[in-house]
Amino acid sequence: MPTPLRRVFDYLPIVGADAPVAGTRIRVPFGRRQVIGILLEIADSSSWPEKQLKTALEYLDSEPLFSAELFKTLLWASDYYQYPVGDTLATALPKLIRSGSPIEPPAEIRYRALPPDQDLESQLARAPRQRELLETLTHSGPLSMAEIRQAGFDRALIKQLEDKGLTETVLTDRSDEKPGPDVMVAASPVRPNAEQIRALTAIAPELGFQCSLLDGVTGSGKTEVYMQVMAKVLEAGRQCLLLVPEIGLTPQNLRRFEQRFNCPVVAMHSAMTDRERLLAWRAARSGCAPIIIGTRSAVFLPLANPGIIIIDEEHDASFKQQEGLRYSARDFAVKRAQLENIPVVLGSATPSLESLNNALAGKFQHLKLSQRAGSASAPKMSLIDVASDPASEGISEALSVKIDKHLQQGNQVLLFINRRGYAPVLQCDRCGWHCECHHCNASMTVHASPPSLRCHHCEARTNIPSQCPNCQSDNISTRGAGTQKLEQFLNKQYRSVPVLRIDRDSTRGREAFAQLTDKINQGEPSILLGTQMLAKGHHFPDVTLVAILDADIGLFSPDFRGQEQMIQTIVQVAGRAGRADKTGEVVIQTRHAEHPGLNRLMTQSYEQCARSLLQERQLSRMPPFTHLCLLRIESAVAQQGVRFARQCYETAFRLQQQEQQIELIGPLPAPMERKAGRFRFQLHIKSASRPRLQRFLQALAVTIEAGKTPSQVRWSLDVDAQDLL
Ligand code: ADP
Ligand code: ZN
Ligand code: ZN
Repeated sequence: MPTPLRRVFDYLPIVGADAPVAGTRIRVPFGRRQVIGILLEIADSSSWPEKQLKTALEYLDSEPLFSAELFKTLLWASDYYQYPVGDTLATALPKLIRSGSPIEPPAEIRYRALPPDQDLESQLARAPRQRELLETLTHSGPLSMAEIRQAGFDRALIKQLEDKGLTETVLTDRSDEKPGPDVMVAASPVRPNAEQIRALTAIAPELGFQCSLLDGVTGSGKTEVYMQVMAKVLEAGRQCLLLVPEIGLTPQNLRRFEQRFNCPVVAMHSAMTDRERLLAWRAARSGCAPIIIGTRSAVFLPLANPGIIIIDEEHDASFKQQEGLRYSARDFAVKRAQLENIPVVLGSATPSLESLNNALAGKFQHLKLSQRAGSASAPKMSLIDVASDPASEGISEALSVKIDKHLQQGNQVLLFINRRGYAPVLQCDRCGWHCECHHCNASMTVHASPPSLRCHHCEARTNIPSQCPNCQSDNISTRGAGTQKLEQFLNKQYRSVPVLRIDRDSTRGREAFAQLTDKINQGEPSILLGTQMLAKGHHFPDVTLVAILDADIGLFSPDFRGQEQMIQTIVQVAGRAGRADKTGEVVIQTRHAEHPGLNRLMTQSYEQCARSLLQERQLSRMPPFTHLCLLRIESAVAQQGVRFARQCYETAFRLQQQEQQIELIGPLPAPMERKAGRFRFQLHIKSASRPRLQRFLQALAVTIEAGKTPSQVRWSLDVDAQDLL
C-alpha cells in the first residue's frame, strides 16, 4: 500500500476470480477508503486470523506493471534506502497509473473518410476547409483528433463532415508500429578517434552486465560514443535509456539525438504533465520507444527490451533525490543493469569520487578520452589574486584587461558566478543590521526585477525597506554582487556588446533558455554571464575566455563534498571555452590564491586533483571509503526536535552495542539549522561495512517507528547522503 508504514498488508482473494499475479494493481478496502495497492506475493497463510482479513475488491491488471528484474530492483531499493516498500513502488509509477489508468491505452477513436460520392461532395463547393480536411483524410487514412488538430483543423470541421455523412468514426488499435532496426540509425558524420574506438570496443552490449566509467574531458566526444553504442543496441532490437541532469534536457540536446536516429526519441522530465508522463511510461513499457532520454525518475521506466542504461554527467547532484525515497538514480541504474544483465555507462568529464574510486579499484571499466575531439585544444588556466587586486563590482583590473582583449578579437567571454539575484546581502551602514529570512538561518537576497527581497531557501519574499527597520537610518545598501548587479555593471561598461544573463530567473519560460543559447550560437562578440546553468553540457564554440568570478564561495563549505563540487564546477565551466578551433583561456578570481586545492587545479588534471581528494577522504574515513547515512530530524518546534534527536541518539547508541563497526556522530544541528520554518538536526551514522550498516539502519528504523514520534516532528534516513546541508 502507498503508505509511510514499514509493513505490508494481507487480503483475501476475490472469490471466483482467477488468481492475480505479483506486481499487479489491486483495489482494496483500506480503513474507510478504497486504495490501490500492488500485490507483492501470494501466501498460503497469514499471521492474522482469517476473520480479520478483508477481501480484495478488484484486480486492475492481467499482467504485472514491471518486469521481474525491475520489480526486484525496486524491492532492493526499498531495502537499501530504508524506505517503505509501498511508497517505493508508488514513487516508481506515474501518478495516473497509481490512480488506476490502464496499462495499455484503450482503443483510439479515429476519423475516416467514406468512399467518395459525387453528390455528397458537391455539398462542399462552398466549404473549402471541409474539403481540405476530407482530402487529407482520404490521403492519410484514419486520423485521431490529435492528429487532425496537428494538421491544422479543428473539431467543428470534422463534426460538419460527419453530419454530411462524408466521414465516420472507427475504433482502431493503438498504433504500436515499431520502426525496423535498419532504418533507425543515420550514419555518423564523424570517424571515431583511437580513444573512442577503444571505448566502443570495450562497451559490448552483447556481453551483458558491465559497468563502464567513460571518463572524458569536455568536448572529447563522449556523446558521440553514446550514440554509436546506442546504434548497436538499437540494431539488436533493444531499447536505450539515457539519463541526464535536469538542466541538460534542453531542446538542443534532444535534437542531436533526433537528428542521428530515425526513430522516436521519448523525453521524460519534470516539466511534463501527468498525461504526458503516462504516455511516455506506456511507450517505454510496450517497447514502442526505442530511445528514452530522461531525468532522474526515468530510471524507473519499465522497458520491454532493455538494452543499455547511460548516465550522462554522472557526477551531477540532481541524480540524488532529496526527499521521500532518497535514491541515487546512478546507483539504482547500476543495480538495475546488473539484474537486467545489460551494460551501464557512466559518463563525465569530472567523475564523482565514488565512481572514480570504483574505476580505480577495478570494479568499473575505466575508459578514458583524454583529447578534445577534432582540432580543439585544452584551455590554459590561471589565478587572479583579488586580495592584492581588489575587484570593483566583482571584476578585477587584470580580468577587465583580458575581457577587452578577447572581445576585441571578436570572441565571446563567459563570466561565471554561482549567485543569482542582485546582491546576497542588504544591510544598514549605520547600525549593521542586515536582512535575514524569518524562516531560515540565511540572508535574504536582493532582487532587482521586480524589486524585492527573496529567500533562496524557502518561498519567503518581502519588499525592500526604504529605511533600516532597526535604527530608521536611510543609509541601507547592498553588499556583494549577484548576476543581476553584474549585468547592470557590464551593460554600462560594455555598451557595444550584448550581455546575456543566464540564471534561473532569466530562463523561466519554456523557450527562454533555448532563445538565449540560440543567440549565443550566432557567434557575435558578447558577454555571457551566468550561474551553474552555464556549467552543464552546452557547447559555446565562440567562447575563448572563461572567468570564475568568485571561486571562494565553494572553498570553505561546511560540507565534506564542498571541494569536490568546487573543482567539478570549475573544470566544467572551463570546459565551455574554446571548443572549436579557437584556443581558450580560463581565469579564476580568488582571495585565497595560496589554497592548495586551487593551485593543484592550475597544474594538474582533474583526475590528479580528484585522487588527492580521495586520499583526504580516506584519511578522514569519509565516503567512498566508509558508508554514510544521515538520520534527519525536522521540527517546527525547536525543543521537540532537540528532544527527539536525543532520543534517537539513545536508541542508536543501544543498537550500536549489538553491532560492530558502527560509528555515531551527533545529534548535531544541521549546518543551516533553521530552514523554511523548521528546525533541523542530524545524526551521522557511518560504517566501513555495508551489510552491517544496512542491518543497523533496519533495526534503527523499526525501533524509531515503533516508538512515539511527536506530531510536529518528521524524521527520515538519507542513505549515501549527497550533502550535509
Ligand atoms: P562531449 O560529450 O564529450 O562533451 P561531444 O560528443 O559533444 O563531446 O563532442 C564534441 C564535439 O566534437 C561535437 O561537435 C562532436 O560532433 C565532435 N566530435 C566528436 N567525436 C569526433 C571525432 N571523432 N571527430 C571529429 N569530431 C568529433
Ligand atoms: Zn540601522
Ligand atoms: Zn527562508
